[in-house]
Amino acid sequence: MAEQEMHEGGCHCGAVTYRAPVNLEAVMECNCSHCQAKGFILSFVPREQFELVSGEDNLTEYRFNTHKLAHLFCKTCGVQPFAYGTGPDGTEMAAVNVRTTTGVEPGDLKPQHVDGRNF
Ligand SMILES: [Zn+2]
Repeated sequence: MAEQEMHEGGCHCGAVTYRAPVNLEAVMECNCSHCQAKGFILSFVPREQFELVSGEDNLTEYRFNTHKLAHLFCKTCGVQPFAYGTGPDGTEMAAVNVRTTTGVEPGDLKPQHVDGRNF
């Protein structure tokens, strides 16, 4: 994998901020009930490369279905910048909501569409 540029981002009120090597060329949109409701455009990065810079105490966790993913959102502004989970091969991952990544223009992204509704 090519070295990825580091990106910063966070929630709306600014309490929660992160740094991560987000690959904006490899983003996905999923049509499952949860992703659709929150309008996610996601990019997956290895957990050890995801750095939560601030706001750990301001995060609230939401789990549903198999409870494998920890969806973390800001308890002040309600924005969910990322989730923690485990990939199919057991790798710890962070799913970054690139709509919360600084400088990203969502209309310029070409997300791969994932049929999560039917998983
Ligand atoms: Zn916030």
